[in-house]
Amino acid sequence: MQYTDNVEVIKGIGEKTAEILKKVGITRVGDLIEYYPRNYDIFNPIIPISNVKVDETVSIEGFITDGIQIKKIRSLTIINTRLKDSSDSIKLTWFNMPYLKNYLKLGSRYILRGKVTRKNGFLVMDQPKILSKEEYFNSLNSLTPIYPLTFKLTNTVVTKAMREVFKGINLDKDYLPVAIRKKYNLCEYGKAVKNIHFPKSLDDAIEARKRLVFDEFFIFTLALNRLKENKNKDINNYITNFDSKAYDNLINSLPYKLTNSQLKTLEEIKKDMSGEFVMNRLVQGDVGSGKTIVAILSLILVAEQGFQGVMMAPTEVLAVQHYESIKKMIEPLGYKVALLVGSMTAKEKKETYELIKNHQVHIIIGTHALIQDKVEYDNLGLVITDEQHRFGVRQRENLAFKGNKPHILVMSATPIPRTLAIILYGDLDVSIIDELPADRLPIKNCVVNTSYRNTAYKFITKQVAEGRQAYIICPMVEESETIEAENITDYVEMIKMELPPYIVVEGLHGKMKPKEKNEIMDRFLKNEIHVLVSTTVIEVGVNVPNASVMMVENSERFGLAQLHQLRGRVGRGCHQSYCIFMSSNDSKKNMDRLEILNKSNDGFYIASEDLKLRGPGDLFGIRQSGDFSFKIGDIFNDAKLLKEANDAAKEIMLEDVKLMIKDNSWINNKIVSYVGNVVL
Ligand code: ADP
Ligand code: MG
Repeated sequence: MQYTDNVEVIKGIGEKTAEILKKVGITRVGDLIEYYPRNYDIFNPIIPISNVKVDETVSIEGFITDGIQIKKIRSLTIINTRLKDSSDSIKLTWFNMPYLKNYLKLGSRYILRGKVTRKNGFLVMDQPKILSKEEYFNSLNSLTPIYPLTFKLTNTVVTKAMREVFKGINLDKDYLPVAIRKKYNLCEYGKAVKNIHFPKSLDDAIEARKRLVFDEFFIFTLALNRLKENKNKDINNYITNFDSKAYDNLINSLPYKLTNSQLKTLEEIKKDMSGEFVMNRLVQGDVGSGKTIVAILSLILVAEQGFQGVMMAPTEVLAVQHYESIKKMIEPLGYKVALLVGSMTAKEKKETYELIKNHQVHIIIGTHALIQDKVEYDNLGLVITDEQHRFGVRQRENLAFKGNKPHILVMSATPIPRTLAIILYGDLDVSIIDELPADRLPIKNCVVNTSYRNTAYKFITKQVAEGRQAYIICPMVEESETIEAENITDYVEMIKMELPPYIVVEGLHGKMKPKEKNEIMDRFLKNEIHVLVSTTVIEVGVNVPNASVMMVENSERFGLAQLHQLRGRVGRGCHQSYCIFMSSNDSKKNMDRLEILNKSNDGFYIASEDLKLRGPGDLFGIRQSGDFSFKIGDIFNDAKLLKEANDAAKEIMLEDVKLMIKDNSWINNKIVSYVGNVVL
């Protein structure tokens, strides 16, 4: 069996299962191997019932004390009873297992294992497994991988397929030289892959993860370094003279003064764009630091020289918003702006292609639609990607090559220190906007438990009465789009009953069509919607300065870096803004973690403090952010490994590595997906 084989070569996987696997991006054997568990279910020893907590899967032992009740609701049989030990007791519920009534006996002793939930305020163990003493001792301390599941995929399907793969594949080849493995304390590749899926202990899993994260970063930096060597040194700049009348006019017409950081960044951009070679620059600035205006001013600079400028955003919502605000600023200066997004009709797109080709528009804003083959730019001078961390690196390249040799500017709000930025954007120069506009009031934060929810709603009502708006970010229980949509819809219905009828509430979620999303965001922007209930779709970049409240439900489920990004949606104007982190887990550990957000507005500090509070085993739990779309590595949690991988990529043994990788089409494809066609 090979990494590149179709999954259907795996015993037990037929057309149907292959179809399901395809939905989560698994088409080849290697994709399956790299479908890493997001956590493990550790079979811990029996605990006293008084110690059980919501959402945890635990083992308990005790006596059945209540009569065994059987209810029938339509086709559903429900068995209820109660288990008691010397510390406390807990309700038990089984669905559709009517035969259990002959098995369960009042007064008998049982060992049970199951997930604890809360229903109507009481703890319940749902569908517990009944274990014999022998079964219990055999499973004690074992780890079962938990895979990210969507659609109809089950843990059993993944686990079974994985076992088959390991029977049939040879994992002995390790492209990392022993010296590098020793130096960075990494286990062999084959061992890592096996142990990430079937660890015997948590230590095994931690060791495996370390190697795999290292690999991911190593290949990435290797490719990036190569790209850097290859590139741009010799791409001559063809924009030279800068006449900046429109640029100056635009600055003078702004209702605010640019910050020193913004001005400094603009100087760096101007210097690059009038230099000998084309620009390759990253502008990094925390949320709300004012990156958009820097982008707009750069676009107008090239438009003034007769070149087209392009700005690409990761979502339609954001592209449309940029389009609207840029249009307002630039059209009075005599320049035309076009929008190009996926949801436009074929006719609209065709018309826009014509406008672009004939240079009847000077600035084009859009999404991926901008890099379709059908688009022909005329004299492309500058390409900007906003929220770069959301894109693969590849897309930046594609866009760049289409218009010959434009200047490249990328914007990112990922709060990382310069040392990391230099690694992750190895091929770019870095400008940092490290200052917020002066008129900003610091956001007031609070971390509360769910008993505070009604107070929060009253607070939102008051803010809306004062003319402000609010975001509510809803729990994401499962990584399933259907459930996500239901959650939002239910929440909207619920909160409409809680808030006065004149408050307009709408929901926004990933399953909606781009057109619907755009329309809702547009109404929110115009203050026609007062409260927007949303999943994290709004996390990226949107700017509604009138919004003053951000309330996050189930904030314990988010990485702190992500919560920080969400907080960045408010406090973007002159109004005092508030962030309410609601948590349904009020354990001290969780509250301490969220408290970090209270203390600081520095995104990277937040992420690294979070890390200090967590043990290595916790790395399998919450990711800090989904930035850069690494499969297993997390730039915040694994910052140290990222640095090590980058160092390793500079070592002398590299020639050996290149030789090993040369014929490995799996790794080569990965490199292509990171940086396009470069030869290592
Ligand atoms: P981000 O850096 O997160 O992309 P934006 O560019 O969207 O932030 O800017 C956030 C808000 O700050 C916008 O409403 C913008 O008009 C405003 N803004 C930008 N620069 C300044 C400034 N120098 N002074 C005051 N407000 C500013
Ligand atoms: Mg932005």
